Amino acid sequence: MKKIGFVFLTLAFMMVLAACGSQTGGSSGESGTVGISMPTQSSERWIADGNNMVEQFEELGYDTNLQYAEDIIENQIDQIENMITRGVDALVIASIDGDSLTEVLELAASMDIPVISYDRLIRNSEHVSYYATFDNFQVGVLKGEYIEQYLGLAENNGPFNIELFAGSPDDNNAYFFFDGAMSVLQPYIDNGQLIVQSGQTDFQQVATLRWDGSAAQERMDNLLSGFYTDKTLDAVLSPYDGISIGVISSLKGVGYGSAELPMPVVTGQDAERPSIASIIAGEQTQTIFKDTRELAGKAVEMVDAVLKGEEAEVNDTETYDNGVKIVPSYLLKPTTVDINNYKEVLINSGYYDEDEFDDK
Ligand code: BGC
Repeated sequence: MKKIGFVFLTLAFMMVLAACGSQTGGSSGESGTVGISMPTQSSERWIADGNNMVEQFEELGYDTNLQYAEDIIENQIDQIENMITRGVDALVIASIDGDSLTEVLELAASMDIPVISYDRLIRNSEHVSYYATFDNFQVGVLKGEYIEQYLGLAENNGPFNIELFAGSPDDNNAYFFFDGAMSVLQPYIDNGQLIVQSGQTDFQQVATLRWDGSAAQERMDNLLSGFYTDKTLDAVLSPYDGISIGVISSLKGVGYGSAELPMPVVTGQDAERPSIASIIAGEQTQTIFKDTRELAGKAVEMVDAVLKGEEAEVNDTETYDNGVKIVPSYLLKPTTVDINNYKEVLINSGYYDEDEFDDK
């Protein structure tokens, strides 16, 4: 009896393991298993990142365990702990809160599991082997330059009214995006060509926790009713497409987007489908394309190198100080996208199909 009970329990345990196994399965995993921890499925880009990594890891013979934490920090920590317990060989993590993974990374290190920081820098841990990301400061510069050109600021046009939005204060990238954009816009604020009627120009005043589009929409509602009942808004610096969509809903709510009251120039980031449709419809003006296929490729190369005891290719060893060490990084190039080049950048490259936007 005892023996049968034991066999049964063992079988049941194995079935549970199999059931919680790789969501994506497919490969034999002869090269090992990689745990991929992504922040949320509420934004398209992270779904693409996850899928691209799974595909590319499997091509190299890795098995994967892909999990999304739906923007809940505790979920992410639990999921990573689980991956460690189940014996993954490496971890690739895009953090929700870059400061919250110190302990779980200690656990990974105690099991000799290397960690790659994906797109967002994991802070306060020495146990981060590499960082694969885009040139985040440049992302901000591109947005600032877009507004500069759109309004003709270098030609001394103005004054124009602008409001500023930044990303989540627990995401290291948000500061880089904002600082990059402000490196272009601040001189025009200082000389009066750009006026922030709300006076809200500090990162903390304009940040959007968890990049939440509805929180941004609410803030835009308040800005419009508080400062623009008798003034027109000409530009909105937005750090992310989900925030741009929220801002645009708010603007439409008070009549922007008509012949008498044209939409302000609104930036964005990630070239997500709803925002490309919005650009085609003449609402959002710009976004930043970051090719998640390339980013996934870099992360896969980094994992593969570390597991083979080799060094991964990096192109930046100065910028990303995570509070404990400078994490060797590979920075990919972001591309600015608007109505004039979206076909060339997004359709011709095969990132999206043209007919995805036909009926929008
Ligand atoms: C990413 C952006 C993204 C934002 C919100 C940032 O860390 O770099 O591409 O728009 O998170 O998901």
